[in-house]
Amino acid sequence: MSEEHFDVLVVGAGISGIAAGYHLQASCPGRSYAILERREQLGGTWDLFRYPGIRSDSDMYTLGYPFRPWTDPKAIADGPSILEYVNATAAEYGIDRKIRFGHHVKRVSWSTEAARWTVETERTDTGEPRRFHCNFLFMCSGYYDYDEGYTPEFPGADEFRGAIVHPQKWSEEIDYAQKRVVVIGSGATAVTIVPEMAKTAAHVTMLQRSPTYVVAAPAEDRFAIRLRRFLPSRLVHAIIRWRNVILGALFFWFCRRYPERAKAFILGRVRRAMGPDYDVARHFTPRYNPWQQRMCLVPNGDLFDEIKAGRASVVTDEIETFTEHGIRLRSGEELAADLVVSATGLKLQMLGGVEVAVDGKQVDFSKTLTYKGVMFGGVPNMALAVGYTNASWTLKCDLTCEYVCRLLNHMAKRGYAQCCPRPGDGDVEVGPLLDFTSGYIQRSIDSFPKQGAQAPWRSYQNYVLDIWTVAYGSLEDRALEFGRQPSGPLRAEAPTGP
Ligand SMILES: Cc1cc2nc3c(=O)[nH]c(=O)nc-3n(C[C@H](O)[C@H](O)[C@H](O)COP(=O)(O)OP(=O)(O)OC[C@H]3O[C@@H](n4cnc5c(N)ncnc54)[C@H](O)[C@@H]3O)c2cc1C
Repeated sequence: MSEEHFDVLVVGAGISGIAAGYHLQASCPGRSYAILERREQLGGTWDLFRYPGIRSDSDMYTLGYPFRPWTDPKAIADGPSILEYVNATAAEYGIDRKIRFGHHVKRVSWSTEAARWTVETERTDTGEPRRFHCNFLFMCSGYYDYDEGYTPEFPGADEFRGAIVHPQKWSEEIDYAQKRVVVIGSGATAVTIVPEMAKTAAHVTMLQRSPTYVVAAPAEDRFAIRLRRFLPSRLVHAIIRWRNVILGALFFWFCRRYPERAKAFILGRVRRAMGPDYDVARHFTPRYNPWQQRMCLVPNGDLFDEIKAGRASVVTDEIETFTEHGIRLRSGEELAADLVVSATGLKLQMLGGVEVAVDGKQVDFSKTLTYKGVMFGGVPNMALAVGYTNASWTLKCDLTCEYVCRLLNHMAKRGYAQCCPRPGDGDVEVGPLLDFTSGYIQRSIDSFPKQGAQAPWRSYQNYVLDIWTVAYGSLEDRALEFGRQPSGPLRAEAPTGP
């Protein structure tokens, strides 16, 4: 079996993997790196998801890269434009040439003695095994299972004569023109897919067990468009990015601090959009407070428009059973359907399903603490790019890339070969990594790393705070242990599985 060595291996060529490539090239030019990607295309999420209307639900000034301005007039962008942007970024900086496509990373194992990772991959097409080595492993593998989404067991599903499809498995062959469509779910995917399918379907029903907060926002940022007439794109991108960061953080703070007022504000806007006769209390008033789950954004209020036009409707009820011709609800009502879209969410997955061992022992990540939301207690020379739940993904991912590069340069300068976050006796777990009540998080949060009571073990989900602690904060602290090659003071004790 052929073996190759790189200073850094990045796993995943989505938004984060391309950001990692950019930062490594810009800030650590002396380091060799490669990106291992299991698919045959880059773009990750934005290449995988092909359902009708696929788009961002945050603005592209914060979801885009700070180093490459977003110039499309649409601030809430469609999937193909985002994919094109990620592809163009990779091509412009030559990052695409660093990607090894079709390499599915299966297992990684760290040796303290050799101060390196061994990375075992399988060719996606042939299953052929390959082995790589690296000193630092940068996981940019996203947060969900690429093989399948989450579909609950629907009673009677076998009886149904139409098709049931999960948005993650959407294909262009699915024809819904003039068909009766039921979309199960009320999350970001459901509110995206419903107005788009309503344009050609006979009718689209959004069937939800309970509502989600839905907020309308302009698809285009007029202020940004005006600014671009007399300011360079880079400057406009930076100005709008910061404006959106600040407004987003203030709105999040307002929702958490004054939940009743936030609720009244959001529901007031829905009432204004839907008119006085619509049952907003039943269909758009969630059981939880604003920002206890991710909010759904609808560009130009397209969902509200389709409902008002009668091409789409919302039903808030529970499924009793599928029938031959549709879905029977607890209330006794029956929804006729030719096609059912199960917009029931993702299956969360840590590190792209990769098995991790440290000095021969399997790591159980549910027993680890996150360090600055970037590394894990007891796991040397590994970082994970993961975004915010309450703001655009790329904001945190970009800070993580800056941190990794600073760390690599610091280690090179001081002659360190390894670094490992090491919780002390008082650094105990105080809760799950994410405090959202969303079903997709609650289903798998137990298998995810935990967070501690205070920095650096606490994950604040706060961009401005993270700038100081992650991007500029001191690299040497009581929790991060450094070691030299071949085996320095570093102890190899990762939390292990059963
Ligand atoms: C439908 C949808 C819409 C979203 N919209 C937004 C939004 O508007 N705003 C926002 O902030 N966030 C959004 N998100 C979250 C979104 O996933 C991130 O914004 C971002 O695209 C994640 O980028 P990433 O590169 O970290 O991960 P991904 O896009 O998931 O890419 C991970 C890459 O790693 C590869 N990979 C995984 N495991 C392995 C392995 N074992 N071996 C090799 N390769 C591997 C995958 O094939 C993939 O290419 C959305 C998510 C979804 C699913």
